[in-house]
Amino acid sequence: MTLHKPADARVRPGFPARLDLPRSAVARPTVKAPLHADRAGFGLGMDSSAVRHNMVAKLAQQGITDPMVLQAMRDIERHRFVDTALVNQAYEDTSLPIGLGQTISKPGVVSRMLELLHQGHSGRMGRVLEIGTGCGYQAALMSLMCSEVYSIERLRGLHDKARDNLRHLRLANVHLLFGDGMLGYARGAPYAGIIAAAGGETVPQAWVDQLAVGGRLVAPVSTGASSPARQALVVIDKTAQGIQKTVMEAVHFVPLKSGVA
Ligand code: SAH
Repeated sequence: MTLHKPADARVRPGFPARLDLPRSAVARPTVKAPLHADRAGFGLGMDSSAVRHNMVAKLAQQGITDPMVLQAMRDIERHRFVDTALVNQAYEDTSLPIGLGQTISKPGVVSRMLELLHQGHSGRMGRVLEIGTGCGYQAALMSLMCSEVYSIERLRGLHDKARDNLRHLRLANVHLLFGDGMLGYARGAPYAGIIAAAGGETVPQAWVDQLAVGGRLVAPVSTGASSPARQALVVIDKTAQGIQKTVMEAVHFVPLKSGVA
């Protein structure tokens, strides 16, 4: 396994102490602060905060109720995680390419998974593991909802991109790891939550093993059925009595692959 130490531990000189308040941690002062200076697309009198509030209102209409999830979706600027050419689509409920054939999931799916992960917690939950860092967007959201986030990516290019994307947020509780997430990350275990952004044939046993008792795993898993419903969201709860598995709605995620590249 080629896991390295959390990358930003090496490149985080003099960051401020951990930021506990989500709003101050992330949202820049957005009132009348058009972002065309650093990213194209919000120059026409529209600031990204207003667009994000709009997105969150739609998520609430779709049935997302967890205040922490909604607040995180409001606070994290999704447009900063996609290429400049896609900035105008950043707050639509659509998945977007992030390079190397991978995609960032649509906000509706991301918020649904985070709500499932966070269910039963009123405040921040404990340590979580994310398999598939991608561009780092979901890791940033989770940093506002969890005490620690370990996030593994198997593609070096995306691991580096996520580190760049997250740098400005200075999230001291996010640890980016390069390696094969199929094996989980035993050194951070046990986890209060594990979330996968890529779908495999089954849930790797290592993930279940690394889940704390009382913890929950949320992952897309192949159903074996034919197209289009080839994957479903699976929730696994680890209790003192054993494992409880619930199969939820059909989803469509990029494949979980082994090894690194
Ligand atoms: N949560 C991400 C979504 C990324 S898409 C975001 O917010 O952008 C899913 C990611 O899972 C891809 O980057 C893919 O490379 C990664 N992936 C697939 N199999 C993996 C594995 N075994 N270990 C780690 N990452 C994996």
